[in-house]
Amino acid sequence: MNILILGAGGREHTLAWKLKQSPKLYQLFVAPGNAGTAAIAKNLSIGVNDFEAIKKAVIANSINMVVVGPEDPLVNGVHDFFLNDPEIKHIPVIGPQRAAATLEGSKDFAKEFMMRHNIPTAAYQSFTSNTLEKGFSFLETLNPPYVLKADGLAAGKGVVILNDLEAAKKELQSMLVDAKFGNASATVVIEEFLAGIELSVFVLTDGKNYKVLPTAKDYKRIGEGDTGLNTGGMGAISPVPFADTAFMHKIHERVVKPTVEGLKKDNLPYKGFIFIGLIKVGDEPKVIEYNVRLGDPETEVVLPRIQNDLVEVFEAVANQTLDQIDLRIDERTATTVMTVAGGYPEAYEKGKEIKGYDSITDSLVFHAGTTLKDGKVVTNGGRVMAITSFGENFQEALAISYKNLEKLHFEGMYFRKDLGFDLK
Ligand code: AMP
Repeated sequence: MNILILGAGGREHTLAWKLKQSPKLYQLFVAPGNAGTAAIAKNLSIGVNDFEAIKKAVIANSINMVVVGPEDPLVNGVHDFFLNDPEIKHIPVIGPQRAAATLEGSKDFAKEFMMRHNIPTAAYQSFTSNTLEKGFSFLETLNPPYVLKADGLAAGKGVVILNDLEAAKKELQSMLVDAKFGNASATVVIEEFLAGIELSVFVLTDGKNYKVLPTAKDYKRIGEGDTGLNTGGMGAISPVPFADTAFMHKIHERVVKPTVEGLKKDNLPYKGFIFIGLIKVGDEPKVIEYNVRLGDPETEVVLPRIQNDLVEVFEAVANQTLDQIDLRIDERTATTVMTVAGGYPEAYEKGKEIKGYDSITDSLVFHAGTTLKDGKVVTNGGRVMAITSFGENFQEALAISYKNLEKLHFEGMYFRKDLGFDLK
């Protein structure tokens, strides 16, 4: 098979690394890819939302399957684009069609979906600029902290949590009236604050059958002790130690099953990954969000634990025969530590030469924001490289990643040294 992966981050390098192990793979392409994917696949200089160019590349390279990494092309309908074009409609796309991708593209849609299917989530109401005053009144009925969410995609920045009622009202006005997040905040979801510990559950579905993949916990804040600004993710651990059998059973029965059944009932075709963001409130799982693709850096710990041939698994997704796949999961813990450019998630520089990554042998090195320049691997984004290791527990796995991080260097390199601090 010839396979094309869309995307350019650590998630896509991990997908490429995993697919590359399959004897069923002939040629692997990544568009646009990074320096890591360039070493194991052919990078194509095409943007993930340039569907016409993707079609041309698919035909020119006899590509038999497309695996979509990020949410943008899914929400923009890349899967539908394939299905609607007679020349490429037979080529399977791993990732949902636009209608189901709205689970990530609109928080209001996701909340309505959860309400309709009795999936536990925070109480909420949605508002537009026409109902601003009602929004103020609703805020007055809530206890702080106040959770305000821009309805649409806002590059991970659309959720604002505030302690002060007046500040929350101002924020609501700024989102709805001053279009703080552009069209993404034309509708705002205000919801009850949930106090608890977060985890993510990943599901792969073919629309009929599904498999629950390993759990993971990521660390979003830039600073140690979960302080400072939100980032794309500073590291991840899989499995999540507190997600024991009893809790996983609850997640399965109350969240995963009704989600997959709900997609069927609502006639939302889905072939791909579902990322379910959860908070454990007391002993109860509550959904905070759906993503319609794998997370990054969770992919860097979830995929390495899956022992199956991923091409075979994706073929089963395409053919709706996922029930015939017996998933084999590595029992060990995987951890990943993300290195980032100095200054990230605010202004940072690119183009810094990265040294030492090739001398790391007992960890997996996944490139995120890297590129090749004059034959050298240089930084090309805020999140630069993730170091994934295995161990009997997360402490052991992290110790290997941290030891290997001593070999890695680029100007301004930063990473969190306290991953798992909340699990002890
Ligand atoms: P989201 O983009 O919906 O995942 O929200 C981003 C982050 O905001 C989450 O990872 C949580 O840390 C936090 N968050 C979202 N919704 C809530 C909520 N209802 N209660 C507490 N924290 C929340």
